[in-house]
Amino acid sequence: MTELLSNYLVGRWQAGTGAGTALFDPVLGTELVRVDATGLDLAAGFDFAREQGGTALRALTYRERAALLSAALKVLQANRDAYYEIATANSGTVKNDSAVDIDGGLFTLGTYARMGDALGERRFMLDGDMARLGKDPLFQSQHVLTSTHGVALFINAFNFPAWGLWEKAAPALLSGVPVIIKPATATAWLTQRMVRDVVEAGIFPPGALSVVCGSSAGLMDQLQPFDVVSFTGSAETAAVIRSHPAVVQRSVRVNIEADSLNSALLLPGEAAGSPAFELLVKEVAREMTVKSGQKCTAIRRVFVPEALYTSVAEALSARLAKTTVGNPRNDTVRMGALVSRSQLAAVRDGLAHLTAQAEILHDGSRHALVDADAALACCVGPTLLGTRDASGSDGADRIHDTEVFGPVATLLPYRDTAHALALVRRGQGSLVTSLYGSDAAALASAALELADSHGRVHVISPDVGALQTGHGNVMPQSLHGGPGRAGGGEELGGLRALNFYHRRSAVQASTDVLAHLRTPSAV
Ligand code: NAP
Repeated sequence: MTELLSNYLVGRWQAGTGAGTALFDPVLGTELVRVDATGLDLAAGFDFAREQGGTALRALTYRERAALLSAALKVLQANRDAYYEIATANSGTVKNDSAVDIDGGLFTLGTYARMGDALGERRFMLDGDMARLGKDPLFQSQHVLTSTHGVALFINAFNFPAWGLWEKAAPALLSGVPVIIKPATATAWLTQRMVRDVVEAGIFPPGALSVVCGSSAGLMDQLQPFDVVSFTGSAETAAVIRSHPAVVQRSVRVNIEADSLNSALLLPGEAAGSPAFELLVKEVAREMTVKSGQKCTAIRRVFVPEALYTSVAEALSARLAKTTVGNPRNDTVRMGALVSRSQLAAVRDGLAHLTAQAEILHDGSRHALVDADAALACCVGPTLLGTRDASGSDGADRIHDTEVFGPVATLLPYRDTAHALALVRRGQGSLVTSLYGSDAAALASAALELADSHGRVHVISPDVGALQTGHGNVMPQSLHGGPGRAGGGEELGGLRALNFYHRRSAVQASTDVLAHLRTPSAV
């Protein structure tokens, strides 16, 4: 029997009482560990986090909490090698792809530690200036942001067990709000190990950081009015979360990051082989293959002028053909596995669905696997689909509706800028779109046109080609989330992330009382 990972709740490690669910190596097919949350006293765990963890965190200033984040970062850095080993075994990712998750998470944690330090020795934030309420300036209104007296429940997706933990936990803990994390079962091991390392280092007060691995049953039922829940995952599960009585009846604040039909657009006026053309081709190929396309931000739809359809198809196919796929332990392999057999089946089903409306321009199933048994390994090569004429782009509703969560993208031609923008918007709200071109005015105008339907617009002109941070890389300084289909959530965006964990309130009082709020050491 493999090890049964413990849960950390009520300030102690507790094993579930069930047999557990096994986690597998998606390349070798071997069982790695098991997780189980049966029999946990969830009510006691949530109370403990709220009362012990929350009270202790709120007693600290932002700068003191930031110092705890820095201390946690040091512990995680010291154990980095173990995290890479777990990622190779459990996520089937090559080193560069594990880095996106692990080092991305550590970078985000470090960024919030620095931002928190700059907030200084205070425990609340002012929101705007005082506003006069009448003719006499003596009685005014001042908005304040104070930490919510609740717990933050995180229900996370399988594709980012490290980054998904820290991009949420860093702003929550910095805000003085205790965290209970429920990682996706398939890859819960890495999350559990990171929490274990930080807990054992005794950095955060008891109750500040808890982890429940295994079934999500009963977690949402624990939520009270001042708690918050942040969910990342599929649109189907998001609908379950949104309609739960905790949200509908108790007004628990909810943030949803769901699936997204992200896009890349090459603006008109760029010749085949031009710098903007090459930048688009390079980025699309990278986005399709990083983490085997299992990134919520990955490019799924690629829009190019009709006249460039064939040359983009050829250039992209040539790049994709060079992608070696297989066992991430082999140094020649550039793309590892999908996370599980069920994800492999979902990608194959998704491809079958899309090919009813698109042709195959580069066939991933023809990639020979390196060092991996095709009967066991959840590996698949990158597949580029396409519809050849611009009117086909209009009819291809499946391409705009179906997220295949793997190394798959579709090339779509457009007639003119208005047509291109209309096609991009058919994603019904996405996390990110990227624009490629050399005309600054045209790029700025397209960015504004698409801003309301995207959490992030990534604009690449040749002058920033070598400096840019990447379409799919979520930087803590910028917003992550998107309207509509993407879930309507907002994460990160620098200090904006703290808003979710604070409550805004208007204090109406004499200028004398309000002056005390403006000198925080006085309250
Ligand atoms: P999922 O099946 O919806 O699972 C997400 C999480 O919800 C898991 O922790 C899962 O636990 C839990 N869960 C399942 N049923 C639940 C229920 N009834 N009540 C409460 N929790 C429940 O999604 P996934 O397959 O792991 O993730 C892939 C999807 O996530 C993709 O569509 C991708 O686009 C999206 N995603 C979005 C973002 C973003 O930031 N927008 C980031 C990453 C992924 P178990 O694992 O134990 O079932």
